[in-house]
Amino acid sequence: MIEVLGLSKHYGGRKAVDDVTFTARPGRVTGFLGPNGAGKSTTLRVLLGLDAPTSGRALVAGRRYRDLAQPLRTVGALLEGAGPVPERRAADHLMWLARSNRIPRRRVREVLDLTGLAEAARRRVKTYSLGMRQRLGIAAALLGEPDVLILDEPVNGLDPDGIRWVRDLLRDHAASGRTVLLSSHFMAETAGIADDVVIVHRGRVVVRGSLAEVTAGH
Ligand code: ADP
Ligand code: ADP
Repeated sequence: MIEVLGLSKHYGGRKAVDDVTFTARPGRVTGFLGPNGAGKSTTLRVLLGLDAPTSGRALVAGRRYRDLAQPLRTVGALLEGAGPVPERRAADHLMWLARSNRIPRRRVREVLDLTGLAEAARRRVKTYSLGMRQRLGIAAALLGEPDVLILDEPVNGLDPDGIRWVRDLLRDHAASGRTVLLSSHFMAETAGIADDVVIVHRGRVVVRGSLAEVTAGH
């Protein structure tokens, strides 16, 4: 479960996030959608404890991120611009993440298979296409079998087959009772993946509801 309660983040006079409230529930994919500059990444950064809010709260599994006992095993995240140094080999990167988070080694093989990267696992990340880097980021997010998955622009760089793959993966993940928050400015491509939708614009929530309610002109 993710709970964002009256969250605001101001940069000087700019209200990047302005009194945002929403819940992402277990068993559902929640689409956090809106144009560039709407405040999505800022909200995710506060959720992940990378930034402090100006006011309000952002809770994962009932706690602030930094109060989680085993962050990577509770929350898996894909953030734009994050990822291994290009010289790293994908398998080494995942092995290092597993080791430093006390995740069993066998999970590295599992997430490589799950993301279709097993063949390319020994290659350096700098030889990867954008789509492969996205898959590697998703592999890292899934490594700790987290109850909560937070993905920023996961379909960026993926072709239509890749987008279908992400959709099936996220729906499976949610179907097992987990919480999935999918943030994107690709509204048309991602709205169909979500069960619930939160649309933000200029830091504020403008639409919130199930996909059925929202597309019925709610
Ligand atoms: P989105 O992820 O929806 O594209 P962001 O959360 O990145 O939106 O940005 C929301 C607003 O906050 C934008 O106007 C952006 O310029 C501003 N902003 C984001 N981070 C900073 C920062 N570190 N300093 C100043 N302004 C920022
Ligand atoms: P400090 O370490 O002095 O608390 P921070 O910059 O980490 O300073 O936090 C500033 C304020 O924001 C504090 O009151 C902190 O408890 C609160 N805070 C930080 N992260 C979160 C979060 N993810 N959700 C809610 N409150 C938070």
